[in-house]
Amino acid sequence: MVERAIGVVGAGTMGSNIAQLAAQYGFDVSLRDVDEDQLQRGLDRIESDLREAEAGGHVEDAAGTFARVTGTTDLGKLTAESTLIIEAVPERMDLKKSVFEELDAATDPDVVLGTNTSSLPITEIASAAEHPERVIGMHFFNPPVKMKLLELVTGHHTSEATVDRAEVFAEDVGRESILVDDFPGFATSRLGVALGMEAARMVQEGVASAEDIDRGMELGYNHPMGPLKLGDYNGWDVRLEIGQALADELGRDVFHPPQIVRKMVRAGDLGQKTGQGFYDWSDE
Ligand code: NAD
Repeated sequence: MVERAIGVVGAGTMGSNIAQLAAQYGFDVSLRDVDEDQLQRGLDRIESDLREAEAGGHVEDAAGTFARVTGTTDLGKLTAESTLIIEAVPERMDLKKSVFEELDAATDPDVVLGTNTSSLPITEIASAAEHPERVIGMHFFNPPVKMKLLELVTGHHTSEATVDRAEVFAEDVGRESILVDDFPGFATSRLGVALGMEAARMVQEGVASAEDIDRGMELGYNHPMGPLKLGDYNGWDVRLEIGQALADELGRDVFHPPQIVRKMVRAGDLGQKTGQGFYDWSDE
C-alpha cells in the first residue's frame, strides 16, 4: 500500500470533485465507476476544472495534477494500493451496503472506508462490513474543492484509529473537520434543514418576504447566505425528503416541510436547477 494513495468510488458530482481535491494535494487517486460513460464524464470534468483553476492561478500544474488521477471500472485497480477509500455512489442504502460489502471483502482490514452519505445512518452502512470499526462518515460539501468543511461521522463501531486517520486526511487535503456522532441529519443537515423549513414557514405565514428573511440572517447573523437562497441552491426536492425523514425520525415539528415547500416541489419549482424556487434563476 502507498501512504499517499486513495480510492474514490463513484465518479459523479461528488466523487470526481473529491478525487480532484486529493490530487491537488498530491495524492494518487484511483477513481472507480461502474458506468464507463459516467467515468469518462467525471474525468473530463476534473480535467477541465483543473485547467480553469490553472488559468485562475489556483493550481500550478493542471496536467501533472490530472495525471495523478486514474479512472477505472475495475475494483482490483481501485483497491490495490489505497490506504483510504471514499464512497460517493447514489444515496440508496441497498447500494451503499453492497459497495461496502464488496470493499470490505477486497481490502486489508487496516484500509479505512469512508462514506460521503449526506443523510443515511453510518452504523447501518457499516453493518455490511465484517470490519465495521474501519467505516466512517466523511461528509464533504459541494463542491469539495471549494468547501472547507469535512463532517466526520462515527458509527456505533467506528474505532479511534479510524477517526484519527480520517482527521489526518482532512488536514492533508486542507479541510477542517468536525466530529459528530451518528444521529439523523448529523450536525449540519439537522440545523440547516430546521432553519430552511422554519424560514419557508415564515414566508407562508406572511411574516416577511424571502428576500427580507434571507437579508435578516445575512446581515443580522452573519450567515454568508440566507436559508431560502441556500435551499434554492440545494434543491427543495432534496430538502423536502430530508426534512420529512428528520421529522419522522426525531419527531419534531420544526423539520416538517410546510405546504409552501410541498407545493413548490409538486409544481417543479425546485430552485436554481429548474430556474425557479423562492427566487427567479431563469437568467442564470
Ligand atoms: P451522482 O449521481 O452525481 O454520482 C454517483 C456516481 O456513482 C455515478 O457516476 C454512478 O454511475 C456511480 N455508481 C453507481 N453505482 C456504483 C457502484 N456500485 N460502484 C461505483 N460507482 C457507482 O451522485 P452525487 O451527487 O455525487 O452523490 C454521491 C453521494 O454524495 C450521495 O451519497 C450523496 O448523498 C452525497 N452528497 C452529495 C452532495 C451533492 O451536493 N451532490 C453533497 C454532499 C453529499
